[in-house]
Amino acid sequence: MSGAAGPLRVFVAALAHETNSFSPLPTSLRAFAADILHRAGDPATLPKARGFPAYGDLFTVAAERGDTVIDGPAAWTQPSGPAPRPVYEGLRDGLLAALAAAGPVDMVVLVLHGAMVADGYPDCEGDLLARVRAQMGPGLPVGAMLDLHGNASPAMVGSGAVIMACKEYPHTDYLPRMRELYAILAGMARGGRRARTLMRRVPVLGLYGTTEQPMRGFVDGLAGHEGRDGVLAVSVMHGFPWSDTEHTGAAVLVVHDGSDKGAAARVAGQVGDGFLRLATGMPNRRLPLAQALDLAVAAIGPGGPVVLADGADNPGGGAACDSTFVLRALLGRGIGNAALGMLWDPQAAAIAADAGVGARLPLRLGGKVGPLSGDPVDLDVEVLAVRDDARQRGLGGELTEPLGLAVALRAGGIDIVVNSHRQQVFSPECFTALGIDLAAKDLVVVKSTQHFRAGFDPVARATFYCDAPGSLNGDLPSLPYRHLRRPVWPLDPVGSLHAKGA
Ligand SMILES: [Zn+2]
Repeated sequence: MSGAAGPLRVFVAALAHETNSFSPLPTSLRAFAADILHRAGDPATLPKARGFPAYGDLFTVAAERGDTVIDGPAAWTQPSGPAPRPVYEGLRDGLLAALAAAGPVDMVVLVLHGAMVADGYPDCEGDLLARVRAQMGPGLPVGAMLDLHGNASPAMVGSGAVIMACKEYPHTDYLPRMRELYAILAGMARGGRRARTLMRRVPVLGLYGTTEQPMRGFVDGLAGHEGRDGVLAVSVMHGFPWSDTEHTGAAVLVVHDGSDKGAAARVAGQVGDGFLRLATGMPNRRLPLAQALDLAVAAIGPGGPVVLADGADNPGGGAACDSTFVLRALLGRGIGNAALGMLWDPQAAAIAADAGVGARLPLRLGGKVGPLSGDPVDLDVEVLAVRDDARQRGLGGELTEPLGLAVALRAGGIDIVVNSHRQQVFSPECFTALGIDLAAKDLVVVKSTQHFRAGFDPVARATFYCDAPGSLNGDLPSLPYRHLRRPVWPLDPVGSLHAKGA
C-alpha cells in the first residue's frame, strides 16, 4: 500500500477502567468526571487528561515526530465495580462519534486498560476495538496501549489492533512503550508492512512486581526477543485477578510484522512458559496480618521506617480504602511511632478540618463502605495538620495527584492521614505534605499494592506486605468467582496447567 507523506494525522483517545468485580463501589459518570473526563477537542479539559500516563505520553511522542494530534475523548477513573451499561455505552459511543467527526486520519492510538467490565460487557476493550475496526475499515493502523493488569482477550486481538502494554510494575515505562507502539503504527501509516498481534494465554492469577528478582530479570530478558525474526514487541499481561471474566489471567502479546509467524508463535510460547514457571514458583509474599506485623516490628531499627503495604484495601484496585483492620491491629498491639495512610473518610476529614489544627476531639474513623472495610474505629485524636491543596507524585513522577481535603491526626502515637479524594498511596508526599517526618517513624502503613515502591524504597528500611480482609484480598481461591476459565493457578494445581494460544 502507499503510505502517507508529511505529518501524520493521528486520532488519540482513552477509555480506561480497571474493574474489580468484588468492589462495593459503583462506577458512575460522576466518578469519571471527578477524575478524568476530557471532551474531544476541549482545551479546558485537556490539561488534566494529559496528566494521565500513556495518554499524555502520546502528545509528547507525536510532538517529537512533528505529527498532528486530533484529541478524542479521554476517560479514566479509580478502579471500582462494573460500570452500568449506559455509562460504558455512552463513553464508547462518544469516542466512536469523535472518531467519525475527525475526518480522514492516518492512524488511531487508544489508551485502554484491558480489565474494564460493564453490565453486559465482560470485555469492554474487545467490544470497543471491534467497533473501531468496523467503523474505520480493515486498512487503518489502530493501536492500543494497555496496562499490564489487563485481561487480554481474543476479541481485542481479533480486531487487528496492534496491542502493547507497559512492561514494568510499578508502571514507570509508558513513555518508551508509547514510542515503540507509535513507531510501529506510523511505519504502517507510511506504507510499511502491516503489523499484527499474536496472543498466548497463560493460566495464572497473581500480582508480580518487576523491581525484584526473579521478575526483574525476566522483564529485562524480553527485549532480547524484540527486533529480530519479524518480532517487533513483546508484552506480558499479568492480568487482573479481581476482575471476574472468562479472559481473566495472564497472557503474552507478540506484535510481529507477519514475515515469520512461526517465530512469533515460538517467542510467545517461550515467554509464556517462562512466565508460567516463574508465577507458579513465586511464594505469596502477602502474609496474614498478624504474621506480617510480627516481621515488621522485628525489622524496626535505624535507617528509615519499615513499610507495611495493606494491598487488600488498595483503591488503585477497586477497594474502598476505608478499612480499619490494620489500624485496629496497630492500636491493639500498642505499636506507636507509626504512620498510616491514606484512609478515605471525607466526613471525618471535614470534621477534623473544622475542629482545626491543634484541636483534640473524639472522632469515628473509617469502616463505612461495607463489611470488607471492617468496623469504624472511635479514637480521641489530635489534629496535626489540615490541607486542601496537597498533592502526591503519580506514576509519572510529578506532583499530579491532589489529595483533596487531607488531615493528619494523632492517636495512640500513630499519625493517621485521612482524606476526601479516594486514591492509593504512590509517594511519601501523602505524609510529608502534612508535616509527618517519615524518617523519624518506626513503621509506615500504606494502602497500596506495589506502586508505592518507586517512592518509598529510597526511604524504607524494609518492606512487608500483609493480607487483611478487603476487596483486593490476596487469598484468590477464597473469592466468589463465577466466570473464570479453569484450570488456573492458584485455584488449581500446577500440574493441571498449560499455556494455550488464544
Ligand atoms: Zn496496573
